[in-house]
Amino acid sequence: MEQTLVILKPSCVERGLIGDVISRIQNKGITIIGMKMMQLNEQILREHYSHLVEKPFFPGLCASMMATPVVCMVLKGIDVVEVFRTMTGSTNGRKAAPGTLRGDFCMSGQANIVHASDSVESAKVEIARFFRPDEIFDYTPDNLAFLYADDEL
Ligand code: UDP
Ligand code: MG
Repeated sequence: MEQTLVILKPSCVERGLIGDVISRIQNKGITIIGMKMMQLNEQILREHYSHLVEKPFFPGLCASMMATPVVCMVLKGIDVVEVFRTMTGSTNGRKAAPGTLRGDFCMSGQANIVHASDSVESAKVEIARFFRPDEIFDYTPDNLAFLYADDEL
């Protein structure tokens, strides 16, 4: 099964939305196989947002990501990278569709609650960046037969 990296950003932590986001993940039938709090620093953010380091908003983005500790998670499920990106919604919360995390919980294009890996390849790199192998608990939930049909597994 696929895995994806999620970061509950300082905008999520500070606004008391950690539980709401985790509820949505669990209600969907996605399995959480890693979860921890971390204080990010500029070094890890320069790697994580390497596609954005030259942008004028990068210093502000870094500051916003270091404002409080974050919660990092590894999620598991069939097609979970795409499923969770769809649940996350467009980057700008003001344009994100209602029903998505960003569409329902934020008004910002920067303080937008969650990070979600955007491809299977980047998920692998990002999980290795934020988690040691022994921090991931790749267990199989007991209710798997009720989450998926046999021919999907
Ligand atoms: N971001 C920003 N200003 C922008 C575009 C992006 O502050 O104009 C921030 C925002 O927090 C976003 C993050 O940079 O979530 C990463 O940008 P990306 O384009 O990868 O969007 P995402 O994959 O998070 O939707
Ligand atoms: Mg991105």
